[in-house]
Amino acid sequence: MRAGCGDGTSIELKFQVEEDTVMFDVETLWADFARPIVSADDYLNSLRGRRMNVYFRGERVLEPVDHPVIRPSINAMAETYRLATERPELGSVRSEISGCQINRFLHIATDPTDLVAKHEMQRELGRRTGTCFQRCVGLDAIGACHSVTFDIDAERGTDYHKNFLAFVRRAQVANIVIGGAMTDPKGDRSKPPHQQADLDLFLRVVRRDDNGIYVSGAKMHQTGAVNSHWLIFMPTMRMTEADRDWAVVGAVRVDAPGLTYVIGRQTNDTRSVDGGDLDAGNARFAGQEALIVFDEVFVPYDHLFMDGEWSYAASLVERFTTYHRSSYVCKTGLGDVLIGAAATAAEHNGVEGASHIKDKLVEMTHLNETIYSSCMAAAFRSKPMASGAYLNDEMLSNVAKHNVTRFPFEIARLAQDIAGGLVVTMPSEKDLQNNEIGPLIRKFLQGKSGVETVDRMRILRLIENMTIGRNAVGYLTESLHGAGSPQAQRIQIARGMRLEDKKARARALAGVSEPIRKD
Ligand SMILES: Cc1cc2nc3c(=O)[nH]c(=O)nc-3n(C[C@H](O)[C@H](O)[C@H](O)COP(=O)(O)OP(=O)(O)OC[C@H]3O[C@@H](n4cnc5c(N)ncnc54)[C@H](O)[C@@H]3O)c2cc1C
Ligand code: SF4
Repeated sequence: MRAGCGDGTSIELKFQVEEDTVMFDVETLWADFARPIVSADDYLNSLRGRRMNVYFRGERVLEPVDHPVIRPSINAMAETYRLATERPELGSVRSEISGCQINRFLHIATDPTDLVAKHEMQRELGRRTGTCFQRCVGLDAIGACHSVTFDIDAERGTDYHKNFLAFVRRAQVANIVIGGAMTDPKGDRSKPPHQQADLDLFLRVVRRDDNGIYVSGAKMHQTGAVNSHWLIFMPTMRMTEADRDWAVVGAVRVDAPGLTYVIGRQTNDTRSVDGGDLDAGNARFAGQEALIVFDEVFVPYDHLFMDGEWSYAASLVERFTTYHRSSYVCKTGLGDVLIGAAATAAEHNGVEGASHIKDKLVEMTHLNETIYSSCMAAAFRSKPMASGAYLNDEMLSNVAKHNVTRFPFEIARLAQDIAGGLVVTMPSEKDLQNNEIGPLIRKFLQGKSGVETVDRMRILRLIENMTIGRNAVGYLTESLHGAGSPQAQRIQIARGMRLEDKKARARALAGVSEPIRKD
């Protein structure tokens, strides 16, 4: 089969596909992706007309693209394509795997500059959207699978790496969106998968036949799931031999039979259906998370990248989180927007010259750039894995994400401080448009002369949106829990902190010759 790259060139695709396999064969599964997605409009069109089982607020959503509450999340994802066409040096890259010029969100890093460019792209997209643009989980999943499948094959003589490269090649040629599905419901957090009261609380293999396996269970909090084309599912934690059925990694189309999506509720999300665009704060862009239920979903063997190799689950999770924790550099782009909003609110109030306001803006910038510096350092200090893929420095990546669990909350607090109480007490856009009270609102909500009251209101709504509204999901709680809750980073930091070496150095300088005796 030949496939076009979308940049005029084409490549020969060779896969180990049995010609006589029925509707679940790999060729059939990829048949809908023959035309590469290039532009943001191509991407929007690619989401239309899919037969997905999507629910939101108790109702089936037949066409998510046209749903007013879901659409802002699709717009945010579409920006990843727009960036690639507007600034190809940042948003795209030529891949050695497919030979195509591809979206950078499908690229396996093969040297530190790839990871540096990735983080610059993530910051820029955070600035453009002011929210989670949803595409990094899938990118970090393919990064981790590249080296882990290579390692399993080297030890066990399996074909996972070959399967994986064939999958990535197809994904790159079609230039699609891959979602990354790691977090299981987990039930009783003190128990491993095989000891849960309900065995579906971690995704597992429930049966297999000559063509492939069938998986059941669920994945929680899935970023951009409904806006993706394919999903890679992965275990969420270290496994034991008894958890063999849960140690499974594979790829499925988002519209595979047996998948159901329940989109999460976000604070103030229905402001998108209230009419107007002021109250939403950021009317164009939002994030998206969904609960995905898997009910005996078929996965052909060609799309399996781990099938029972339980001892590799820990490496997969650690490598994924090492990539993903640095990906939280995205929040510095959101930080840029929020710092800009706070500075503008101060100007609207006529206090931009006050020393404590300037100092608060400096503090916000210091915190934001501290996140940036740790993420970028983790990229510059990345190291090659046996497969040739580069992985961010583990310690620095964990430090970066740990900063992200804290600093955006302080930046948000300072933004609200500068904004004033109106950020939570402001009348609505409909009040502003009312003939009787509208003029009163314009009169009493005015700031410094020369500033339109409505502009002051817009900036305050943006600050509300990012600190307690819809995009606080992405800026705050996602910063806390996404890529692992704070304790997960502290565990990794403790593992890597080499305390004995530090103590030995202190003893050497202080002239203490021996460690403390045990008796
Ligand atoms: C907005 C958002 C987007 C996300 N996107 C994705 C995504 O795209 N893909 C994906 O796979 N995941 C995603 N996640 C999931 C994220 O990785 C998890 O939220 C995170 O790992 C924490 O898991 P949890 O939410 O189940 O919290 P819990 O595990 O319930 O943690 C709650 C608290 O309990 C503690 N705790 C948990 N287990 C133990 C234990 N065994 N012993 C002691 N303490 C424990 C934690 O440290 C934490 O303090 C997303 C999360 C959010 C909030
Ligand atoms: S939270 Fe950031 S890193 Fe994660 S998917 Fe969203 S934009 Fe990407």
